Amino acid sequence: MIRLTNVHKWFKDLHVLNGVNLNVHQGEVVVVCGPSGSGKSTLIRTINQLETISEGEIWVDGKNVTDPKTDLNALRAEVGFVFQHFNLYPHLSVLDNITLSPIRVKKMDKAAAEQRAVELLDRVGLAHKKDAFPAQLSGGQQQRVAIARGLAMQPKVMLFDEPTSALDPEMIGEVLQVMRDLAKSGMTMMCVTHEMGFAREVADYVVFVDHGQIVEQAKPEEFFSNPQHERAKQFLRQLR
Ligand code: ADP
Ligand code: MG
Repeated sequence: MIRLTNVHKWFKDLHVLNGVNLNVHQGEVVVVCGPSGSGKSTLIRTINQLETISEGEIWVDGKNVTDPKTDLNALRAEVGFVFQHFNLYPHLSVLDNITLSPIRVKKMDKAAAEQRAVELLDRVGLAHKKDAFPAQLSGGQQQRVAIARGLAMQPKVMLFDEPTSALDPEMIGEVLQVMRDLAKSGMTMMCVTHEMGFAREVADYVVFVDHGQIVEQAKPEEFFSNPQHERAKQFLRQLR
């Protein structure tokens, strides 16, 4: 479903991704972790082309997304992205946040889009908030709306960049629960997160990034109990 081949990225003379190779199969959940500044966000953002790459190839569902001819709107409909800071449209209601892209990009009928939005809100436990505005919601609620918004496009892949790290501790669980349910529903997911309980429970494998390279890739039980790379050992010690 996702294939990265020898991906390099430079920001001017900063070599941020240094030869990344990765395969994610349909239905797999991959957790990406690593030190701050190691290139995790850049890596995940290249997959729906929020960042371009300097070298290499990225394929999603059989399409070369790094081909300049790729339709980015179509790509982003297939690849949902959930940001650390939610990025909801502040001037739109919860319902309108969710229906905007299905109506504009997918040309969905308004009534059908709204019906689907309410179903998705129900799935994330927020049907009663459909007429609220983002500022009237807690961080955890806003992030659950952001996930529903991503799902409204019926994506084949969902990408998450530290979805719980801007949340107060008591709200982390409700967002992780939505992500867990999504993983169990069979969604292909790539999640940058340091929530190791989540990784242990739902990840098919963990990818550890350091200095723009994947230096370790292992099943969670192996990664947590017996990390191989010195930098990964140090990283896990700091988390505890
Ligand atoms: P992480 O998500 O692992 O913390 P990032 O992918 O955000 O790491 O950043 C990797 C490196 O690239 C850092 O040194 C960061 O400062 C740099 N970087 C990220 N975005 C940009 C940008 N738009 N322009 C220049 N440098 C950037
Ligand atoms: Mg980051």
